[in-house]
This record gives sequence, structure tokens and C-alpha cells, in this order.
Amino acid sequence: MLPRTTFEFMELHGTVDGFRAALDGERCSGRTIGLVPTMGALHDGHLSLVRRAAKECDVVATTIFVNPLQFGPDEDLERYPRDLEGDRSAAEAAGSDYLFVPSEREMYPREPKAHVTVTTTEDGLEAASRPGHLDGVATVVTKLFALTGPCRAYFGEKDHEQLEVVRALVTDLSFPVEVVSCPTVRAPDGLALSSRNAYLTADERHAAPVLYRALEAGQACLESGERDPTVVSRVMSDLVGTEPSVRLVYAEARPGDVEWRLFVAAHVGVARLIDTLAVPVCAAPVDTVTAGR
Ligand code: AMP
Repeated sequence: MLPRTTFEFMELHGTVDGFRAALDGERCSGRTIGLVPTMGALHDGHLSLVRRAAKECDVVATTIFVNPLQFGPDEDLERYPRDLEGDRSAAEAAGSDYLFVPSEREMYPREPKAHVTVTTTEDGLEAASRPGHLDGVATVVTKLFALTGPCRAYFGEKDHEQLEVVRALVTDLSFPVEVVSCPTVRAPDGLALSSRNAYLTADERHAAPVLYRALEAGQACLESGERDPTVVSRVMSDLVGTEPSVRLVYAEARPGDVEWRLFVAAHVGVARLIDTLAVPVCAAPVDTVTAGR
């Protein structure tokens, strides 16, 4: 790595041209760039990505953009939490050198005619539950790659299907980007940190860790030797069902060669929350079954 650029302050950019020119300069000086795309309302999960990027790259560029393309018509685009001042100091303290916060008009000055679609999502749970969401993610990530020219890009394991989509993008469209997946940061009671946790009332916040407890129950089931995904999925959905204020979207156990992956999504009040856990076990070749859809 080249010696880190010593910025006294993180640079804030609102325009595509300004941000691109700044990062062109960094790349021309031979510095590696780590990109951390976010929708803001930064929490420790996001900041763990920034810290990791700061360790591994010469320059860290964090982006904050609540991307309308990835929200469905009945979703929370308008009320999505926003806290630019808090985000600014948190990103800087975590080691970000640039913060790109474009307006919607700056990112999409006209109705976009080019969209990116990724077909790896055909059997995806989020893909089925939120039509168009992952294509919206693929489109904005493509655009961010094009204007940042990152060497590495950091994404959270919590959004597992999103990670798969980004990996497919990079492979199939030959982006010169290394995708780095980062572990899920949780509250002490297991709830995965999420900007949408801000929607939870005190009672809902108390109920929400049932998602993680369901994943743990699925894990325990696998560790006890169970290999039927229907049974494991049912154990998880039954556990979510013990919280009357939590409405299950899906609970699914998927076998893999090296590890099983457990997925859960649920509505808690107005918040739609997702979580996932990888369980390394010697999996039997069995079919996938979803409970609760
Ligand atoms: P978002 O702002 O929700 O679009 O998230 C931006 C990035 O942060 C995505 O790559 C997420 O997967 C990641 N992320 C969100 N929550 C967490 C968390 N609790 N732990 C680690 N990464 C996270």
C-alpha cells in the first residue's frame, strides 16, 4: 500500500463530476480505493465496512444514496431514515476520506433508459418477495462502480442476495473490483443492526431479536443432526410465530456443499427486517423447502 493520503478532513462531494475527478486523481497517484456504498443513517454495521476498507485500501470512499430504483411502490422510500450530519462525523471517524452524497437528480437526471438485471436471483427469497429490488441495487452499484473506479468494494453479509448480485455483476461484466464481504454486526441481544431498526417502537425492539433466535434455533437443529430443510425451516418459522407482533415473510434453510445457509425475513411494525446465518455442516443432498411464504 502507498502511504495513506493524510486528509485533515473528509471531503464531501455532491456532484458526480467532482467525486469522479477527485478519485481519478487518487488512482492516477497509484492509490487503491475502497468503496463502501450505503443508504446512510450509518450504524456500526456500516462503519465496520468503512474501518475494514481503511485497513485494506489507501483511500476510502463512502457513498450515501437512498436509491429510489430499489424501493417498491408501497415501500419506505419517503420515510427512510436520513441523518447527514451524524453520518458525516461517523464516516470520518471510521476512516472515510471521501463522502459522496448525491441528490436523486444528480444520480438520475432523467428517467434511466439503461437498467441492469441479474438472473442469479431466480430462486432468491428477496428477489421473490421484493420484485425489482435487486435490479435496482444492481443498477446503482454498476453506476457507483463506473464513477468511483474502486479497487475493492465492501458489502455486508447480512444482505446475502445483494452480495450474490454484486458478485455476479463483477464476474459477468468484468468490473476490475474485488468484492469483500463483511460479517454482520449485531446488538448484544442478537438483532442485526439496520437503519430500519429506527422504526421500531420499544415493544417492537424487544420482539425483533426473535429473528436471530430463529436462526440460532435452526443452527441448533442442524447441529443436532437434522438434515431435512423442511424441518429446519419449520423450526425457524415456529419460533418467529412465538412473537405475535412479528409477521413472518419467510424462513428458509438451504443446504450447501460446505455450509447451510439460514434465511429469515419478517415485518416488525412498519419495519421489514432480514437476517441470515451460515452454518458449516456436512450437508446431505436434499431439496429446499420454504416455510411461511
Ligand atoms: P444499507 O445502507 O442498508 O444499504 O447498507 C449498506 C451496506 O452495509 C450493505 O453492504 C449492507 O449489507 C451493509 N450492512 C448493513 N447492516 C449491516 C450490519 N449489521 N453488519 C454489517 N454490514 C451491514
